[in-house]
Amino acid sequence: MRYEGKVYRPPSEARSYILQATIGCSHNLCTYCDMYRGVAFRERDEVEVLEDVRQASRRYPGVDKIFVADGDALVMGTERWLRLLEAVGAAFPRLRQVSCYATAANVLQKSDAELRELRRAGLSLLYIGPESGDDVTLKRVVKGGTFEDHVRAAAKVRAAGMKLSVIVLLGAGGVERTVEHARETARLVTEMDPDFLAALTLTVIPGTPLRRMMDKGRFELPDVRGLLTELRTIANEARPTDALFRTNHASNYVPVGGRLPRDRESIVATMDAALAGEIPLRPEYARGL
Ligand code: SF4
Repeated sequence: MRYEGKVYRPPSEARSYILQATIGCSHNLCTYCDMYRGVAFRERDEVEVLEDVRQASRRYPGVDKIFVADGDALVMGTERWLRLLEAVGAAFPRLRQVSCYATAANVLQKSDAELRELRRAGLSLLYIGPESGDDVTLKRVVKGGTFEDHVRAAAKVRAAGMKLSVIVLLGAGGVERTVEHARETARLVTEMDPDFLAALTLTVIPGTPLRRMMDKGRFELPDVRGLLTELRTIANEARPTDALFRTNHASNYVPVGGRLPRDRESIVATMDAALAGEIPLRPEYARGL
């Protein structure tokens, strides 16, 4: 149960056993991201990872959820994944969910048969963060995938029987693309049709390429009103079949939640109240990444 560097996981995995099978992110180019800046991507030594599993099973035999880190762990080869899934399945009798972060490219690099095999072996949930559905924004932030790539990846995930959690990033298009970013993100959510949808709010972090663009006047973050308007547009226009929607991440100004599209009206009403100044926003000092 050793960890290297800072380990990130989605808020919903707070009670999961975090198993670090890879270090860093194989893409590591998104302009706003500082999670693994300067960290060379690598797969951890497999013997060490499996030893971690054995140690964890002795200390925490009741583990029922595992999140496999780091930033895009799906990139590991399928054979290696299958050995890992077999090990955790044997080590934790109550295991009911194994999840990881994935990029669209990670998914598209695997065949449908491979994804089905991974699902059968226990990999049940993927977190994909397209951040935006606007292709101009996706290119500018160097996400490494287009609107269509994310739609194709989501279809493969669903066809394999895995659950899909989609993460979008308010503010990613800057002031210049705020309208397109919100509308295209809503359209992408509809097309990806996730089981879970989370919205985070962009924080421009010192040392990132995005911060340097901002310093040169080439990127401007929308103000709070602009960010709330983006969230309202996404909640109002996205039409997934039935997605659990959350903005409870600490980066957001207003925590809202519910199911989309079922609770659309009440979520939009909350956003309208926030825009009208009728409900308090999370103060800046209480916001986090
Ligand atoms: S894919 Fe994720 S972890 Fe990797 S650079 Fe982009 S935001 Fe960061």
